[in-house]
Amino acid sequence: MKFDIITLFPELIEVYANNGIIGRAIKNNYFQLDYTNLRDFSENKHNKVDDYPYGGGPGMLIKPEPMFKALDAVKMDNSYIIYLSPKGNLFTQNKARELSKKDHIILIAGHYEGIDQRIIDKYVDEEISMGDYVLTSGELPVLMLVDAVSRLLPGVLGSDESSIDESHSNSLLEYPQYTRPESYLDLDVPEILLSGHHKNIDEWRRYKSIEITIERRPDMIKDNEVIEEFKKLEKKYK
Ligand code: SAM
Repeated sequence: MKFDIITLFPELIEVYANNGIIGRAIKNNYFQLDYTNLRDFSENKHNKVDDYPYGGGPGMLIKPEPMFKALDAVKMDNSYIIYLSPKGNLFTQNKARELSKKDHIILIAGHYEGIDQRIIDKYVDEEISMGDYVLTSGELPVLMLVDAVSRLLPGVLGSDESSIDESHSNSLLEYPQYTRPESYLDLDVPEILLSGHHKNIDEWRRYKSIEITIERRPDMIKDNEVIEEFKKLEKKYK
């Protein structure tokens, strides 16, 4: 799988691509990440890529010409082109899973007031939003998407890390987790986790997962059986 990012701030992408789990995965060739500076495709002597919106209004828009050229330079037959935008479909773990099956994803980071609609109409397969709020530019949303999708690719997470059982992996939020020491100040790790009884531990974790999901994100629970299961577990673990 390869990601190509069209950006005005390649330095931001570079820092991310050279650090942490993702930096290691790229070095080890589990996926590829490349970026294109939109200004390289500007025909303006000051490398300008934006202009005023027709019809008036505040701010500037990214112009079609440099973006068309940049996209033509990186596009392949199997490319899936995404524009990160607050107007897009809300990003979810299911969407991350779906995108992890693509071969080539091109991500457009917007800036200023956004991009000329003709870029979207001609090239973009999907607009994706990272949440119901507005950021100044698309680099952080682009990196969030790359991060969420790439960690689902084989090999990207090392043997110490896993996406199994995480929040949103099974329509529930994750159960609480503890590490050493067993007791710190007057705060103790729940006894069941020290019992070595894996079946009970799994059951308790399931109970805590459902509990926290009911408390924080009841909208995620679509199945009444989960509530019935919770009521049974509650008798045992509350
Ligand atoms: N005028 C646009 C609107 O009202 O929808 C907002 C433009 S925003 C200031 C500049 C750029 O940041 C956008 O083109 C987009 O790439 C990115 N951006 C901002 N918020 C975002 C979000 N919630 N999700 C994805 N991208 C976002």
